[in-house]
Amino acid sequence: MTNNRLREGKLEIETLQTWDKKHYLHPWAELSDGKTDFGVLNKAKGIYLYDKKGKQYIDGPGGMWCISVGYGRNEIAEAVSNQLNKLPYTSPWSSTTEPSTLLAKKISDKTPGDLNNVFFSTCGSTAVDTAIRFVHFYFNIKKKPNKKVIISREKAYHGSTYLSASVSGKERDKRYLDTEEKLVKFLPDVNPYIRPDGTSTDEWCDRKVHDLQNCINLVGAENIGAFIAEPILASGGVIIPPSGYHQKTREICRENEILYISDEVVTGFGRLGHWFSSKDVFGIQPDIITCAKGLTSGYIPMGATIISDQLVNQITDSDQKDVLFSNGYTYSGHPAAAAAANKTMDIIEDEKILEHVQEVSPHFQSRLSDLGKKFEIIGDARGIGLLGCLEGDFGKDCSETKKLSIDHEFGKKIDAAAERRGLLVRPLINMCVFSPPLIISKKEIDIMFDILEDSLYEVQNEMLK
Ligand code: PLP
Repeated sequence: MTNNRLREGKLEIETLQTWDKKHYLHPWAELSDGKTDFGVLNKAKGIYLYDKKGKQYIDGPGGMWCISVGYGRNEIAEAVSNQLNKLPYTSPWSSTTEPSTLLAKKISDKTPGDLNNVFFSTCGSTAVDTAIRFVHFYFNIKKKPNKKVIISREKAYHGSTYLSASVSGKERDKRYLDTEEKLVKFLPDVNPYIRPDGTSTDEWCDRKVHDLQNCINLVGAENIGAFIAEPILASGGVIIPPSGYHQKTREICRENEILYISDEVVTGFGRLGHWFSSKDVFGIQPDIITCAKGLTSGYIPMGATIISDQLVNQITDSDQKDVLFSNGYTYSGHPAAAAAANKTMDIIEDEKILEHVQEVSPHFQSRLSDLGKKFEIIGDARGIGLLGCLEGDFGKDCSETKKLSIDHEFGKKIDAAAERRGLLVRPLINMCVFSPPLIISKKEIDIMFDILEDSLYEVQNEMLK
């Protein structure tokens, strides 16, 4: 009998690329015939990825902002494997497991203030969905059913489910997809880089805070449930709101009984040198924090929504205390994902990775800002912690369509030049963003920025020809 089963391990790169183009719809999928030939990656160790031909690349974006403790961590693989052998799954509706309960306790110990109630989900998008659904649930119980509108910001990214995409503010992603427009109001871009000439960052901050107040005045606080905000707008291009913005907007929300959701899907679990950045970096105490990505260092999908005691207690003290929060996923608190997260947290603690990030970040940031000074084609080089972005400066005076094509060209050219030299970057139209694994050493930071510098010389020479 012949065995025609397709088997992993023996397939040629060309075959994989052909099937990839024919059958695999990737995120932000290109549907045309001329689809990209994706590199086929095969293995990884530390901060490095290797393709099927054995070529080594530094992982500049850290996967998708998620690889924190680096690749090739046997201890995470073993923890997951042991858990799968012992108990791969049990229903979170009717039972609990040691790893998931332990994880809820460990996360509660790391969150600021009274954020002690952990709802597990499958990724960042479902963590955000859960947060918004909880806001609606909370105000329904509080007999304020009109408080439903969510305030978000232009350039925010909160996910790709219908609800989380509805509160995401990247316009270019929405041109052909529907979202729930009545649910959300967007505040204008907070990026200090776009402030008009002559405007100080303090004035910019006041204007941005005023945007929030203005929106509340227009919509009415009685109709607004929550403000959702990434501490740093990561996918929007590592946008760092002006100093003082977080605290002032937090205060306005408190005054207007608008819940504050801090989306720490990128900034949580060490990216800025702290478990969470809301309080430790930006001095605010949110009502809800969402997280994912670094929670398991990208080894297994998992997200979490962490809700304050204050909110939960108001429900349990109400006359509707027995009402169920009917939201959940088959894989909420999945034991294998929880095992990966517990081990990730142990590694972060045992290897003092938060302290390491605090130590190497100034070097990372100074190499990044040097690029901004050196290259004419770079308009802005910004970052914080181990997050960075280079924004190209082109085509300000052309039409929107022409500008978009120049912008794409810039991102693609840097991507190609860096890839040839052994560095993966993440092009985002006219920007490249970086979030390497948190274990990156100073020496590796230098290698990464040396490659970038070389690549930028090449791209600049080509584009300014
Ligand atoms: N929130 C933020 C801030 C994100 O950056 C992302 C993804 O990049 C998400 C939510 C959605 O996470 P996921 O892709 O895991 O659903």
